[in-house]
Amino acid sequence: MDESVIIISDATLLPMTVGGNVIESGYVTAIDGVIVEVGAGDPPAMERGLRIDGRGKVLMPGLINAHTHLYQVLLRAVWEDLPFLAWLKRIYGVAEALNPEHVLAGTLLGCLENLKGGVTTVCEHNFLNPGPECAVAAVEAISRSGLRGVFARTIMDTGDIVPDCTRETPETAFARIEELMSRQRLNGSPEESRRLTFRTGPNTPPINASPDLLREIRGFADHHSIGISAHVAESASVVEVTRRQCNRAGVVAHLADFDIPGEDAIFAHSVHVSPEEIVQLADTNTAVSHNPVSNMMLGDGIAPVVEMLAAGVKVGLGSDGAASNHGQDLFETMKAASLLQKVKHQDAGVIDPHQVLRMGTIDGAHALGLGSVCGSVEAGKRADLILVDIQKPHFQPVNDVVSQLVHCAKATDVDTVLVDGKVLMRGRECVWLDEGETLRRAQAARRDLMERMPAA
Ligand SMILES: [Zn+2]
Repeated sequence: MDESVIIISDATLLPMTVGGNVIESGYVTAIDGVIVEVGAGDPPAMERGLRIDGRGKVLMPGLINAHTHLYQVLLRAVWEDLPFLAWLKRIYGVAEALNPEHVLAGTLLGCLENLKGGVTTVCEHNFLNPGPECAVAAVEAISRSGLRGVFARTIMDTGDIVPDCTRETPETAFARIEELMSRQRLNGSPEESRRLTFRTGPNTPPINASPDLLREIRGFADHHSIGISAHVAESASVVEVTRRQCNRAGVVAHLADFDIPGEDAIFAHSVHVSPEEIVQLADTNTAVSHNPVSNMMLGDGIAPVVEMLAAGVKVGLGSDGAASNHGQDLFETMKAASLLQKVKHQDAGVIDPHQVLRMGTIDGAHALGLGSVCGSVEAGKRADLILVDIQKPHFQPVNDVVSQLVHCAKATDVDTVLVDGKVLMRGRECVWLDEGETLRRAQAARRDLMERMPAA
């Protein structure tokens, strides 16, 4: 069958475009990975192509996971009761044992979990590099998974809790990142290269980023026209260190001294940011990834999402790594994002479910610089689409499909996933990645990693 032409018909269509309302019975046609037509009623007759019946399902853009560490699925529920900096030290300590096979197997499983939950784009914030091969393995796994990826290869050049093996001088790190990008350009197929973009960044300033690194990294990013990803103000303890070491009131203020904020930057977490820093984020068009489940799991606090949105900050959603989540479920993330703001403000109407769904789709795409590529269902965009089965006891009957997608839908309701017009899952069956083999490989990698792990 000619699968370069795909027609999905008779679905409840949720385009997530500006002013785009729910279409009760709609269709989408994609040719060579590009959406060519979106409409209501019956699709135009096509002689060739793959037809997918959307009856009983919502057709919507794939979800955007704007911040994660995929290999960390190997570390689910390993350290879940530690204060933030003690937890971080254990995570960094994994570098002493981590090898490329662990990263490859873990990243593949992380991709599989994201994909089965309706995520079509992942931003992999990569920071644990005991050598250059681990990042190579992570890129390879994302390429193989079929997902769209933003690979943010970040740098740690200082810090008491950073093991020597994963600390790099800016020069060494920059050379390794250039090598990684040129390797992908040379080895990847044109389709893979289109699906994968790169970023860099200081990992968790100022805990593991020296002023020298911060001074140089903006120039490096600009020189290569790649964006920046950083962990910013995740816990109060990081802000305390910033005040003590850098004589700045907060992490955003500290980063502004080095011109790190900008429209190509995404700051993960941004839990402890002041009203002045929120204005700085909005003025510089810096994006934020809100990771509510991870923030709750680590006891970090509640990010001022309503305040950031009111100020005009671009906010996407992330799961964060499974070491602090313990999953990769973006439907759960949307529900947590909605409920947490209601709790924080003691106001049930403080955030609108449509806004939350935007954060999980089109706003997340904009936050990663992919707003013209994916995140909504409209002609000209790449066909990154999902079908969500809503004929479920926990979803029926339907009164408000948008609110129910945010508050009732589960990752396991996702029936079909397409990325770049390629069908990766249909009827919950993965037709691209081998699910059984991915699970077995990750289980073996987890056993081996635990055996090699240094004692606390
Ligand atoms: Zn993170």
